[in-house]
Amino acid sequence: MTVSTNSKRMTRQRRLVLEELKKLKNHPSADYLFGVVRQKMPNISLGTVYRNLDVLVNSGQALKLDLAGGQCRYDGDMSPHHHIRCSVCSAIDDLSESAVAGIDKPRVSGSDYVVTGWRMEFEGVCPRCQRAKAENPGSQEEASHTVHAFPNMSVTQPESEE
Ligand SMILES: [Zn+2]
Ligand SMILES: [Zn+2]
Repeated sequence: MTVSTNSKRMTRQRRLVLEELKKLKNHPSADYLFGVVRQKMPNISLGTVYRNLDVLVNSGQALKLDLAGGQCRYDGDMSPHHHIRCSVCSAIDDLSESAVAGIDKPRVSGSDYVVTGWRMEFEGVCPRCQRAKAENPGSQEEASHTVHAFPNMSVTQPESEE
């Protein structure tokens, strides 16, 4: 039977995934974590990283952060804390419980759901993005120009457009 060798390998991979996740403080996406783990275990696949993350999340060893407007991110820090997401660069940082005040535990009534938890998402601009904006106030506007089309301006056509 190959089951035991398979499960042994799975365990080794899972341990590495969890180890590296705990080391990273940036709440990595699965893609990012894959890049880190692959340096220690070159044969590991992205699918394996996803599968192991799922197992770790389901067994309560890691957190999956489904924050709005981005890829799923993962957290190996299971101590109670909140998260804040930078609306500019999507960085996710920790907010300690004590840093957040004025929240009473909300109660839900009039729902047929069995409520098992709740989550709150803070949004802001991270210190790095604040500095970047202060040093180069025009950069934000330039970035948005490249996203939006200006129908009246036909002076420079992007090469990719037909
Ligand atoms: Zn930022
Ligand atoms: Zn966290």
